[in-house]
Amino acid sequence: MDLVRSFAEARGRYLGRVGLVPTMGFFHEGHLALMQAARQGADTVVVSHFVNPLQFDDPADLARYPRDLDRDAGLAETAGVDLLFVPQDLFPAAPATRIALEGLGARLEGAFRPGHFTGVATVVAKLFAGLQPDLAYFGRKDAQQVAVIRRLVEDLSFPVRVLAQPTVRESDGLALSSRNVFLTPDQRPQALLLSRGLLEAAEAAEAGERNGAALESLVRHRLAGVDVDYVALASQDQVERLTDLDRPAFLAAAVRVGEVRLIDNVSFDLVAGEVVADRGVRLDHQSLLYR
Ligand code: AMP
Repeated sequence: MDLVRSFAEARGRYLGRVGLVPTMGFFHEGHLALMQAARQGADTVVVSHFVNPLQFDDPADLARYPRDLDRDAGLAETAGVDLLFVPQDLFPAAPATRIALEGLGARLEGAFRPGHFTGVATVVAKLFAGLQPDLAYFGRKDAQQVAVIRRLVEDLSFPVRVLAQPTVRESDGLALSSRNVFLTPDQRPQALLLSRGLLEAAEAAEAGERNGAALESLVRHRLAGVDVDYVALASQDQVERLTDLDRPAFLAAAVRVGEVRLIDNVSFDLVAGEVVADRGVRLDHQSLLYR
């Protein structure tokens, strides 16, 4: 594996089809699953490693975001990554050009984190322009982000195929996030209510419950006593709130546990008229986050 610092240096090492995995580092099994998918689908796997200041609405969250390049380089190497792209600074000066997605970028996460998806879309557009991948891999853990990236690619005609991968969960069900390292043992039971509520709602949906409000209230009920930002059933492509589960959708929630903000979702696809939930996959061992 080579560590590269510039777009040109990365592009100079390409062979065949290029698969990009954009990340902010501090890798866990969710990132590794994206790298493995890229390894299967592409000839050259490039992982970008950059904590993007544009997508943080809270300076304290940016300041304490976990960082450890040596650790991450070792993990990426083991995952079969060819190029770890670690730019010194992608935005030495604040960019005058920003990409704002009307509608789907302003709802749910966008409503609680103003400017977040503008920051995401701007950095991803820059990575697509500079790295010119054929394929790009994103996690379904960030379902709204997947919608934003798909729309960005469609609207601006980036010649990139976007592939979304299932959420990887810890053995207790908590969706992996680099921020999980900040949860104290006494906060963990509260954090777990998020996945538990969503997974219960997934059961209900597969058993025939199609009412959006009913599915949302199952989650809210489970989250009683937790600081909830939102619980919402939304369409996968437009991120529009749904009255009924009658098209591809995701049920998403965001909560705050102490200083840590957690998001999670289950996605629903319709297969021959039946609702099929994507609950993600669960580790059967402790995550490498805690090594
Ligand atoms: P991040 O470093 O948090 O910006 O995430 C980089 C990529 O990994 C994004 O596409 C995320 O959606 C994805 N990702 C983060 N956590 C998970 C997870 N638990 N399961 C699957 N993908 C994830």
